[in-house]
Amino acid sequence: MNTIAAPSSNPTFGFTLQEYQALLIETLIKYRCVGFEVLDEPDMLRDNFCILRHDIDMSPACALDLAKLESALGIRTTYTVLLTGEFYNPFEVSTCKTIQAISALGHDIGLHFDATWHGINSEADLEDAITWEANMLNRLLGPVGGGVRMFSFHNTTPFSMSCKQTHYAGLRNAYAGVLQEQVSYTSDSNGYWIHRSWVNVLNERPARIQVLTHPEWWTEKKGEPAEKVCQHLDSRSRIVWTGYCDSLASTGRNNKTGVVDAFAILPALVPEDGADLLYTWLCGNCEEAFIDLYCRVERKSRRLCRKYFRTALRASSNQVNAVLSDCTLRLDPIAVLACIANENIETLLGCSLVRYQSLKKLRHGLVHGSASAPKATLQTHFNLLALLMQNLVNWASTHTLDATGAVKLTTRNMPKTLKATGDALPNWLKKHMKELDVSDGTLRKFLARYPNAFAANGKSSTL
Ligand SMILES: [Zn+2]
Repeated sequence: MNTIAAPSSNPTFGFTLQEYQALLIETLIKYRCVGFEVLDEPDMLRDNFCILRHDIDMSPACALDLAKLESALGIRTTYTVLLTGEFYNPFEVSTCKTIQAISALGHDIGLHFDATWHGINSEADLEDAITWEANMLNRLLGPVGGGVRMFSFHNTTPFSMSCKQTHYAGLRNAYAGVLQEQVSYTSDSNGYWIHRSWVNVLNERPARIQVLTHPEWWTEKKGEPAEKVCQHLDSRSRIVWTGYCDSLASTGRNNKTGVVDAFAILPALVPEDGADLLYTWLCGNCEEAFIDLYCRVERKSRRLCRKYFRTALRASSNQVNAVLSDCTLRLDPIAVLACIANENIETLLGCSLVRYQSLKKLRHGLVHGSASAPKATLQTHFNLLALLMQNLVNWASTHTLDATGAVKLTTRNMPKTLKATGDALPNWLKKHMKELDVSDGTLRKFLARYPNAFAANGKSSTL
């Protein structure tokens, strides 16, 4: 295992699961990990120890990731559950099962308690409120929960920090006076180390430490805390939406979306994120979804064109990139594909040229900010785009192409003799200038702009 650079000397430290695992291993080398049962021991300060605590403020799913990682290393830690938060609901079946799974891995489950939610400011009221929430959590989790035996305050206040007894309502207190005073403490609240990092604490090596982490910050990928918060929220809303769709489907009810074709086509046609694209649309971001889908259709077309240029015309990467992305040549990848296939656009896309032109016009208007479109227009065109994309994929599959251009192309349109001379692509462009709406002057200027790509053999200058 590599040694860990301190966050201060490592600007790329990003609260990843990999970093978490490294920190755990470093901790295990230096400390014995214990739970809050140490509070029950009269001579608790006799030995060194580390308490690892996770307050689940936002993401039970991330908590389960950490729990698995810890359990693989043979570590038992404590996870506290918030009943009164805004980010998740432990009474949801899937969330409850996630918490039970954490417990089943051998970890302790505690109560994350928000005193401000109850509006309390006396220890008597605190006992009552904790009893009420702990009973609920125990009943919710059942025997799998293992019985809640500790609590931690959520969003501490001067009142909560003044509650220093080791136990309230029979539960161990993560902010007991003895822990506050005798145990070094650090926390990743808000996605960064406010006072000192976990690494700093390990390097200082005090006799006893309590490390509080919030599972939502520890993710597969690096990211800013605000990004992680928004991504957790977004992920949750999409999961709820999918559940809603499934419940309608399972009861045979209509899911009225206004975009029937797109709804039927996109999830299967774009398995990686077709459903997300629809979600973007249904959230009211219609222009964004339309442009996104349009870009995907163009990307699919470009992939097919690229494959043909590379294999049939033996064009170099530089040539292909120049032709497909030049902003003066401005080739429509659908038109290029139609030329390659020797088909008209109507056949290729399964829609009239008028409708295709109308799609292009709408895209141009939206991208360049010269037009916004009424909802009904966007709806019609979004559905049309989905149909068109499906037709394009169907066409490709019946012509021994797949949507990625990975399957061998048909040879019927390939030049008779192929030589890697470098001028096949310029010649092809010249042959199809009319269909591609490119003038002689535009083509000449284009080729001159890429002397390294097109003039190596000296032949492109004869165009
Ligand atoms: Zn909290």
